[in-house]
Amino acid sequence: MSARAVQTTRECLHLIGGRWVPSASGQTFEDRNPANAADVVATFPVGGREEATAAVEAAAAAYPAWSHEAPNRRAAVLLRAAAVLRGRLEEVTRDFVREEGKPITEARAEVLRAAEVLEYFAGEAPRMSGETLPSSRPGVFLYTLRRPLGVVGVITPWNFPIAIPAWKIAPALACGNTVVFKPASQAPLSGWYLAQALHEAGLPAGVLNLVTGPGGAVGGTIIDHPAVRAISFTGSTEIGTRVYQAGSQRTARVQCEMGGKNPLVVLADADLDLAVRLAVEGAFSGTGQKCTATSRVIVERPVHDAFLRRLVEATRALVVGDPLDERTFVGPTVDEAQMAKVLEYVEIGRREGAELLCGGTRLTEGDLGRGYFVAPAVFAGVRPEMRIAREEIFGPVVGVMPAEDFDDAVALANQTQFGLSASIVTGSLARAHAFTERVEAGLVMVNLPTVGVEYQAPFGGTKASGTAFKEQGKAAVEFYTETRTVALRPAGA
Ligand code: NAP
Repeated sequence: MSARAVQTTRECLHLIGGRWVPSASGQTFEDRNPANAADVVATFPVGGREEATAAVEAAAAAYPAWSHEAPNRRAAVLLRAAAVLRGRLEEVTRDFVREEGKPITEARAEVLRAAEVLEYFAGEAPRMSGETLPSSRPGVFLYTLRRPLGVVGVITPWNFPIAIPAWKIAPALACGNTVVFKPASQAPLSGWYLAQALHEAGLPAGVLNLVTGPGGAVGGTIIDHPAVRAISFTGSTEIGTRVYQAGSQRTARVQCEMGGKNPLVVLADADLDLAVRLAVEGAFSGTGQKCTATSRVIVERPVHDAFLRRLVEATRALVVGDPLDERTFVGPTVDEAQMAKVLEYVEIGRREGAELLCGGTRLTEGDLGRGYFVAPAVFAGVRPEMRIAREEIFGPVVGVMPAEDFDDAVALANQTQFGLSASIVTGSLARAHAFTERVEAGLVMVNLPTVGVEYQAPFGGTKASGTAFKEQGKAAVEFYTETRTVALRPAGA
């Protein structure tokens, strides 16, 4: 296994006020390789209230100058940071794979995505436009300005450890805000590389601050701090709901992107090869650890058995193994606790009466025993009331459910508290269109997998998957700015 060859441990620090600093307590935590638990990829300081408060204060101090910086100069920093990331593509990618376990082809694409996001929002910096309106009062010039908010808090999950920080931090900075960033403790190194790239690119001291440590202490301090005007959070629905309540209570602007239970609907007229490819990609890429992962496949009865047979064949053929190997499709789950959770759901599914057709066991053969690998699992006979149909598993497990007809398929798709992504496989334009209208999801795909987003389009869920503000594209600029209405009458007019 090539993971064995790479054993260097990086010692990382917080970035506060433009300086790399340890924690006041001197304590550190380890960032370990889920494909090889003995490999310590990096160590990070255990931050807490003290460091998070210092970071907010540094961001507040840096805000006046950064918010008045010329947009083309803000853009130039983002472009230079993108160039730094591109220049370090392989180093960042390998460490990303080591800390998170995402297969290398996907991890490399995600690092490139982060660079593209920086470039895209560099382009947005000079486009923060307002509007002019006819005033009812003679001689009055009525217009709007977009202004940054101030200090914003960014709290991110481990499963897209560089793309999500990039798509939150880049627009925040482009719009003239300053940032306090807290990455997930299971995979903080990729986000640290992003902060390092921005620091090296010449971001002024305090404009971006990074604090690592436990979510409650570091994240909680950011959320409660009165100087933090907005919070952008991505993570579980459980934590996100609390973040939303705490932030909103003190009238901070809060954006939460949360869990999913995403359906792929396969109609009887679907191209079954395509349907199987989409199901496999949606359910098992990223080891199923994507908020947009397909976790329910709803199949019209006439093609149900044929689809299921092919899906199981394709799943059994997947290459599970070393995520640093370019041929690997499914890597390890992110840590032992996540693996235990996935295996527990497999047990729950069995007890509930679903039929496990393949996978669902820990893989321990050879080098796999050093990590947290689970064979990709397909359940048949899943019913909507089962926990495996209702709760987010966040691993390589998919459940297949039969549908009587299109209406039944849509009803099943919507029978969930979540509403992130939904897809349909069909040759019928009419059905595809009806699906886009009737399914309850923030992202709707037709003949495409439930996974996969583009940074120029708004991204976000509905129901328990997300709060009102969307991310990415122009929506990000709306979140990170506020509109100021100006009525101006020149003296003497
Ligand atoms: P998580 O446990 O909710 O943690 C997310 C972030 O919140 C981490 O940085 C975490 O820090 C921090 N945190 C934990 N407790 C906190 C608290 N009390 N106050 C403030 N921050 C706190 O989620 P995860 O396990 O990292 O990520 C997986 C989840 O993210 C899944 O549910 C997935 O669906 C969701 N997700 C959603 C999207 C989307 O766009 N909708 C995208 C990706 C992932 P620690 O790591 O230190 O605990």
